[in-house]
Amino acid sequence: MTARSPKDLSSIKGTQDILPKIVWKWQKAEETAKKIFELYGYKEIRTPVFEATELFEKGTGETSDIVIKEMYTFTDKAGRSLTLRPEYTPSVVRSIVENRLYLRPELMRYYFIGPMFRYDKPQKGRYRQFHQADIEVFGEKDPEVDAEIVEMARTLLSKLGIQDIDILVNSVGCQKCRPSYHKKLKQAAKTHREHLCEDCQRKINTNPLRIFDCKKDECRSAAAEFPKITEFLCPECKNHFDRFCELLDFYRIPYQVEPKLVRGLDYYTKTTFEVISSKLGAQDAILGGGRYDDMMKDFGGPDICGIGFAMGMERLVSVMPDKKDSEKFLYIVHMGEKSKKVALELAKYFRDNGVECVLEYKERKLRKQMSRADKLNAAWSLVVGEEEIKKKKYQLKDMKTGNQIEVTKQEALKRMTS
Ligand code: AMP
Repeated sequence: MTARSPKDLSSIKGTQDILPKIVWKWQKAEETAKKIFELYGYKEIRTPVFEATELFEKGTGETSDIVIKEMYTFTDKAGRSLTLRPEYTPSVVRSIVENRLYLRPELMRYYFIGPMFRYDKPQKGRYRQFHQADIEVFGEKDPEVDAEIVEMARTLLSKLGIQDIDILVNSVGCQKCRPSYHKKLKQAAKTHREHLCEDCQRKINTNPLRIFDCKKDECRSAAAEFPKITEFLCPECKNHFDRFCELLDFYRIPYQVEPKLVRGLDYYTKTTFEVISSKLGAQDAILGGGRYDDMMKDFGGPDICGIGFAMGMERLVSVMPDKKDSEKFLYIVHMGEKSKKVALELAKYFRDNGVECVLEYKERKLRKQMSRADKLNAAWSLVVGEEEIKKKKYQLKDMKTGNQIEVTKQEALKRMTS
């Protein structure tokens, strides 16, 4: 075997390490998301990272960019085609059908946070392994749910201190009203054929709605001339959309109707929405979602409607404020073997009582250890010397103010936790 250079072993393009310096933001985002989702009656569900390729071909849709270009597909040793999940909804739907969760009395409201994989061209805000927080609701067809999940997303973003967002909403109709719109759209796209990129020219016949997803200027300006889906909605879809918008007004949520918002996936029906941030650059969507009322039925399951959204964690974290809730930990200073032993006992005592505690085992002078505590940004230091051990009283220093007092371990705990 030839030796590999460190360069060969570097991370794969489009993936990234989430380093300790930033991980607090991820933890905060994940914890806050879980808390909020649970307040609205969602339960966590976890499904495998890889699934049968057909699941995504069928679920995500054969004409979607994800299926055509972006899947991480491989053949396993048994010759089966498997795919690393590019999105979560097909897995959840599969799990519901397979585990017959629809027969249970609980609400079918699920959430999930984890990695996704898409072989897209990496750029800022677009990765090949990225993470999503995802929610899905099944069996609730009322527009109240559509508005509630937008309201929930907005609450979550505001809890995380994210400002400067825009909420875009649309309806993509249903199987009744979409075909006549498709026809008109196809005609319009054909007349603009020469202004469209090669990819969009292909979409004219496969799925003209996808042309709206193209970010190229020439395709965007051509698409601006296309008919709008909102003018083709059947009465049921129109009523649903009107009620959805009324409810957003009721929640005092500002939004824009964006008829070109069709989203990149094939399965949407009726409501679609996206939350974008002007701070994100070209990849500006923090989250996106919509209704998929036919998906479960298409999977061979019961006819149960669904709606959900997926939020990109990398993008979310990148627009979160940098201010960290102050890190509060105790640094224990010890000198010599006996003192180290007492320091270990004290560290166990403080940790058992919920105080983050750091001590280092390298022999260092008192002054050196104090300056380490300072450098590490400890909130307090506690000196454990011979005298202190005898008295069972220790020097607790507030590193910010410099105030120092002599306290028992119980008194120290009280000060640090009050
Ligand atoms: P989608 O599943 O395509 O509807 O995407 C939902 C959200 O996931 C988007 O709004 C983004 O925030 C995020 N997202 C999608 N694809 C990527 C990617 N390749 N890299 C980073 N985030 C992504």
